[in-house]
Amino acid sequence: MNGIRGFFRLIVLALIIAGIIYVIPQVEWYKPSIRIKLDSDYVGTNPFDIEVKDRGKGLKRVRVSLVDAHGESELISKDYPVPVKEDILHIKLDPVKLGIKDGPAEIRVQAEDRSRIKLFSGNKVTVFQKVVVDITPPRVEVLSREHYVNLGGSGLVVYKASSDTVKSGVKVGEYFFPGYGGYFKDPEVHMAFFAYPYNVEPSEVPVIVAEDAAGNLRTTSFFFRLKKVVYRKSTINVSDDFIKSKVASLLPADSVKNMDLKELFLKVNRELRQKNEARIGEIGRNSVVKEILWHGKFHQLSNSMVQANFADERTYVYRGEVIDHQYHLGYDLAVTRKYPVEAANDGVVVFAGDLGIYGNTVIIDHGFGLSTLYGHMSSIDVNLGDRVKKKQIIGRTGETGLAVGDHLHFGVYIHGVPVLPVEWWDEQWINNNIIKKIKEAEAEFGVNERVDNKEGVFLEGEESGKQS
Ligand SMILES: [Zn+2]
Repeated sequence: MNGIRGFFRLIVLALIIAGIIYVIPQVEWYKPSIRIKLDSDYVGTNPFDIEVKDRGKGLKRVRVSLVDAHGESELISKDYPVPVKEDILHIKLDPVKLGIKDGPAEIRVQAEDRSRIKLFSGNKVTVFQKVVVDITPPRVEVLSREHYVNLGGSGLVVYKASSDTVKSGVKVGEYFFPGYGGYFKDPEVHMAFFAYPYNVEPSEVPVIVAEDAAGNLRTTSFFFRLKKVVYRKSTINVSDDFIKSKVASLLPADSVKNMDLKELFLKVNRELRQKNEARIGEIGRNSVVKEILWHGKFHQLSNSMVQANFADERTYVYRGEVIDHQYHLGYDLAVTRKYPVEAANDGVVVFAGDLGIYGNTVIIDHGFGLSTLYGHMSSIDVNLGDRVKKKQIIGRTGETGLAVGDHLHFGVYIHGVPVLPVEWWDEQWINNNIIKKIKEAEAEFGVNERVDNKEGVFLEGEESGKQS
C-alpha cells in the first residue's frame, strides 16, 4: 500500500513541478500600454487611432467604448486568438448607428494581456480620456450670387462659415483654394479666390468646403457656370543649336557630359520644368499675405503685345520626330531688348532669383492667394520681401532660362495654380467677377461692413481711385 501511495505522491509532485515549470514563463507583470491618438480634444466623424502594446506575453483582448451622459456605447471589441505584441485600432464614430450626440464624453479603452498572473486573468489596464463629441459640421452660407468662370480662369466666392470652422475654401477637383477672413468686420465672412484650372475636366463642379476641429466636413454648392475656352495648339521645332546654346546651360555641366541632345532637351523640358512648376506651386500655397494689396486692374507691360498664349499646348519636334508635349502657362510679352519690367499691381516680392526654365524670375504676392510671375529677365531690381507698387520697375526683360529672343514671360497664379492672365488686365472682368461679388456679399449685411472701408481703394478701381 505504502508503495502505491508513495507512487501517487510522486506523480502529484511531478505534476505540480511540471505545472510550475509551465506556468512560470506564462506569468509576467508587464501591463499593456495604451495610447489614444487624438490631435485635439474633439472627436467627430474623422477616424482616429488607438495604439495598444504589450511587452510581455502579448495581447488577449481590447475593448473601446464611448461613455457620455446617455450611457456607454461600444466602439470596438477585439479578441486576439494568437498573441499579438502590438496593434493599432482604427476608430470611426458612426453617430447614427450609435445614437450619440454632441457634448462632453469619455473614451474608455480596456486592454488585457495573456499573462497567467492573478488567477490566470492576466494584466488588465483601463485608460480614460475626456473628449468633446462634435459630429455637427460647420454651417456655411454663400453670400455672393452668380459665378461665371472661364475654363482656366479665376473666380471669387464670398461665404460665411460658422465660428467652429478651422479650415475652409473652394475645392475644384483635387485643387483646394483657401478662403480668407479679415476683409469684412464679421470674422465669419470669408473670401476665396479660386481657379478653374485649364487641365480640370469641365464636368467638375466647384464646392465650398468647411472643416471643424473634429474633422467634420461641410460641403456646400454655389451658383456656378463654366464657360468653355478653347486653347490653342502650336508646334515648336527644336534645333541642335538651341539645345547646345540654351538648354545645356540650364543643367549642371557635369550632369550633361554623356547625354545626347534629345535626352538633354527632355531632361530640361520635362524634369526641370516640372520641378520649377512645383516650386511656383509651393510658393503660392505657402502665401502668408492675409490682406488684399492690389487695387484696380492689373497692368500689362507697357507697349507690349501678347506673343504666346496661356495654356497653349505645345508639341516639340526634333529632327522630324514628336518628342514632347507641354503647356505654356502664361503670356510671352515682347517690346524691345532689356525693356523695363513693371509690377502688374501692388504686392510683396516672394521670389527673386533663378528659377530654371524661367531664368531670372520675380514672383509678387498680391494677397489672398493671388500672385504674378515675371520670367526670363536679364536683371532683377528687387529683393525678397520688398513691397512694390503697381508699375514700379522690378527689372529688365531678357532671355534667361528656356527662352528664344528677349521677352517677358508673365504668369498669374491663384494659390500656385496658373490662371488666364487676361482677365486680371480687364477692368470690366474685375468689376463683374470680383468687385460685384463683394458688393453682393455686402448687400447681405448693409453697407460699411468692410474692415478697410476707410481706404476703399480696392473697390474703387485704378482710374477712379487714383486720379484724385
Ligand atoms: Zn513664356
